[in-house]
Amino acid sequence: MPLDPAVARRLKRDPDGLVCAVVQQHDTRDVLMVGWMDDEALHRTLTSGRVTFWSRSRQEYWRKGDTSGHAQLVHAVALDCDGDALVVTVDQVGAACHTGDRTCFDAGALPVTAVAVAGEGDR
Ligand SMILES: [Zn+2]
Repeated sequence: MPLDPAVARRLKRDPDGLVCAVVQQHDTRDVLMVGWMDDEALHRTLTSGRVTFWSRSRQEYWRKGDTSGHAQLVHAVALDCDGDALVVTVDQVGAACHTGDRTCFDAGALPVTAVAVAGEGDR
Protein backbone atom coordinates (compact mmCIF):
# COMPACT_ATOMS: atom_id res chain seq x y z
CA MET A 1 0.00 0.00 0.00
CA PRO A 2 1.74 3.16 -1.19
CA LEU A 3 1.29 6.73 -0.06
CA ASP A 4 -2.26 8.03 -0.49
CA PRO A 5 -2.32 9.55 -4.00
CA ALA A 6 -4.21 12.57 -2.67
CA VAL A 7 -1.27 13.25 -0.36
CA ALA A 8 1.35 12.39 -2.97
CA ARG A 9 -0.15 14.93 -5.39
CA ARG A 10 0.42 17.72 -2.85
CA LEU A 11 4.15 17.04 -2.43
CA LYS A 12 6.77 19.14 -4.18
CA ARG A 13 9.83 16.92 -4.00
CA ASP A 14 13.44 17.92 -4.55
CA PRO A 15 15.37 16.32 -7.45
CA ASP A 16 16.10 13.32 -5.22
CA GLY A 17 12.39 12.82 -4.54
CA LEU A 18 12.61 14.10 -0.97
CA VAL A 19 10.88 16.64 1.21
CA CYS A 20 12.34 18.16 4.35
CA ALA A 21 10.73 17.08 7.61
CA VAL A 22 11.02 19.28 10.69
CA VAL A 23 10.33 17.32 13.86
CA GLN A 24 8.76 19.12 16.80
CA GLN A 25 7.96 18.01 20.34
CA HIS A 26 4.18 18.21 20.76
CA ASP A 27 3.96 19.79 24.22
CA THR A 28 7.01 22.05 24.53
CA ARG A 29 7.00 22.91 20.79
CA ASP A 30 10.78 22.44 20.82
CA VAL A 31 12.22 21.91 17.35
CA LEU A 32 14.01 18.58 17.74
CA MET A 33 15.66 17.79 14.43
CA VAL A 34 15.35 17.83 10.66
CA GLY A 35 15.31 14.82 8.37
CA TRP A 36 14.24 13.85 4.87
CA MET A 37 11.33 11.78 3.64
CA ASP A 38 10.41 10.26 0.32
CA ASP A 39 6.88 9.06 -0.39
CA GLU A 40 7.44 5.71 1.29
CA ALA A 41 8.97 7.23 4.43
CA LEU A 42 6.03 9.62 4.70
CA HIS A 43 3.60 6.76 4.15
CA ARG A 44 5.23 4.77 6.95
CA THR A 45 5.20 7.83 9.21
CA LEU A 46 1.51 8.48 8.56
CA THR A 47 0.42 4.88 9.04
CA SER A 48 2.69 3.26 11.63
CA GLY A 49 2.79 5.73 14.51
CA ARG A 50 6.57 5.98 14.29
CA VAL A 51 8.65 8.52 12.38
CA THR A 52 10.60 7.07 9.45
CA PHE A 53 13.11 9.02 7.38
CA TRP A 54 15.10 8.40 4.24
CA SER A 55 18.79 8.52 5.15
CA ARG A 56 20.63 10.41 2.43
CA SER A 57 24.03 9.27 3.73
CA ARG A 58 23.15 5.57 4.01
CA GLN A 59 20.58 5.52 1.20
CA GLU A 60 18.12 3.52 3.25
CA TYR A 61 15.00 3.90 5.36
CA TRP A 62 15.64 4.81 8.94
CA ARG A 63 12.97 4.41 11.59
CA LYS A 64 14.00 6.74 14.37
CA GLY A 65 14.75 4.81 17.55
CA ASP A 66 15.30 1.36 16.09
CA THR A 67 18.99 1.39 16.98
CA SER A 68 19.09 4.16 19.62
CA GLY A 69 15.84 3.45 21.43
CA HIS A 70 15.03 7.13 21.00
CA ALA A 71 11.79 6.68 19.11
CA GLN A 72 9.55 9.43 17.85
CA LEU A 73 5.85 8.73 18.40
CA VAL A 74 3.72 10.53 15.83
CA HIS A 75 1.08 12.99 17.00
CA ALA A 76 0.43 14.94 13.79
CA VAL A 77 1.91 15.69 10.38
CA ALA A 78 1.40 18.94 8.44
CA LEU A 79 2.51 19.95 4.97
CA ASP A 80 3.65 23.52 4.41
CA CYS A 81 1.97 26.00 2.07
CA ASP A 82 3.94 25.07 -1.04
CA GLY A 83 4.28 21.36 -0.39
CA ASP A 84 8.03 21.03 0.05
CA ALA A 85 8.35 20.71 3.81
CA LEU A 86 6.66 18.83 6.61
CA VAL A 87 6.26 19.45 10.31
CA VAL A 88 5.98 16.20 12.19
CA THR A 89 4.73 16.68 15.73
CA VAL A 90 5.85 13.89 18.02
CA ASP A 91 6.46 12.65 21.50
CA GLN A 92 10.24 12.17 21.59
CA VAL A 93 11.58 9.29 23.67
CA GLY A 94 14.95 10.31 25.12
CA ALA A 95 17.29 12.41 23.01
CA ALA A 96 16.43 13.43 19.48
CA CYS A 97 20.08 13.99 18.54
CA HIS A 98 22.59 11.19 18.02
CA THR A 99 25.01 13.20 20.22
CA GLY A 100 22.70 12.66 23.19
CA ASP A 101 21.40 16.22 23.19
CA ARG A 102 17.66 16.63 23.59
CA THR A 103 17.50 18.48 20.27
CA CYS A 104 19.88 18.76 17.32
CA PHE A 105 19.99 22.51 17.88
CA ASP A 106 21.01 22.58 21.56
CA ALA A 107 24.73 23.00 20.89
CA GLY A 108 24.71 25.02 17.70
CA ALA A 109 23.78 28.60 18.57
CA LEU A 110 25.46 31.07 16.22
CA PRO A 111 26.37 34.64 17.17
CA VAL A 112 23.54 37.03 16.35
CA THR A 113 24.92 40.53 16.35
CA ALA A 114 21.73 42.48 15.89
CA VAL A 115 18.39 41.67 17.42
CA ALA A 116 15.32 43.35 16.02
CA VAL A 117 12.43 44.28 18.25
CA ALA A 118 8.81 43.92 17.17
CA GLY A 119 7.94 46.27 14.33
CA GLU A 120 11.50 47.05 13.31
CA GLY A 121 11.79 44.09 10.97
CA ASP A 122 9.62 45.83 8.38
CA ARG A 123 11.91 48.79 7.82
ZN1 LIG B 1 21.47 15.79 15.88
